[in-house]
Amino acid sequence: KDFRNNVKPNWCPGCGDFSVQAAIQRAAANVGLEPENLAIVSGIGCSGRISGYINAYGFHGVHGRSLPIAQGLKMANRELTVIASGGDGDGFAIGMGHTVHSIRRNIDITYIVMDNQIYGLTKGQPSPRSAEGFKTPKNAPGGSIESALAPLEIALSAGATFIAQSFSSNLKQLTSLIEQGLNHKGFSLINVFSPCVTFNKVNTYDWFKENIVDLEEFPDYDPSNRVMAMTKLMETNGMLTGLIYQDKVKKNYEELVYGFKQESLAGQDIKITEEEFDKLVQEFK
Ligand code: SF4
Repeated sequence: KDFRNNVKPNWCPGCGDFSVQAAIQRAAANVGLEPENLAIVSGIGCSGRISGYINAYGFHGVHGRSLPIAQGLKMANRELTVIASGGDGDGFAIGMGHTVHSIRRNIDITYIVMDNQIYGLTKGQPSPRSAEGFKTPKNAPGGSIESALAPLEIALSAGATFIAQSFSSNLKQLTSLIEQGLNHKGFSLINVFSPCVTFNKVNTYDWFKENIVDLEEFPDYDPSNRVMAMTKLMETNGMLTGLIYQDKVKKNYEELVYGFKQESLAGQDIKITEEEFDKLVQEFK
């Protein structure tokens, strides 16, 4: 079960995305997957390259569209474990509509967001996760005038059944949360603080270490309590890490659509002759 391939990532040395890649590879092996059972779909951005860096099926999609592709894949082949991935610009700006509706649809995929609070690939513009007043010398010298988005609070309001957050420096926790997300029978959102060492000089590794509040500090915390999750998220300004919320009861989309009975498309016999197939191909040419 080796999820490593021989492609050398071209992320900047020190980029948080390296740890996310390692955590996915470890988690996939730990839950007993084989490379042929796993598909990783990514969007556009530095993080979007991750689908090519893991030994599994990979699909590098278009900007903000990793979730529709991942959902189509899962619906066509329920046997496949599907991970969607991307950055905060990809998933919480252009892709936010898909994010919210995938959450409420509760389809059984794991969505991993590499949240570096900036647009890295396009050289440092404020992203939806950049704080108000966030400055970059070339792109926002006067500071961002918009408020930062609170994705986990939005996810909770949208009916999420699994919400977790981690930090790329905490590989043990991140791997464990991805394992739990892969085992969750519904949509799992895992937001990962993944520093951009090249363009984000504010939200650095040290900044995250100082500002993160880990759920281990609250022994009475109950991740099945939605109100407690929202309260704690708001109290910590969204800097909470750990398993924040999980609903193990709600049925997922596939269970409701297929009712556990019907084979997914990929498992069904295609009753079509070679001539009919050729005719169909000609029609679509
Ligand atoms: Fe990572 Fe930032 Fe470099 Fe992109 S620009 S690879 S996000 S460090």
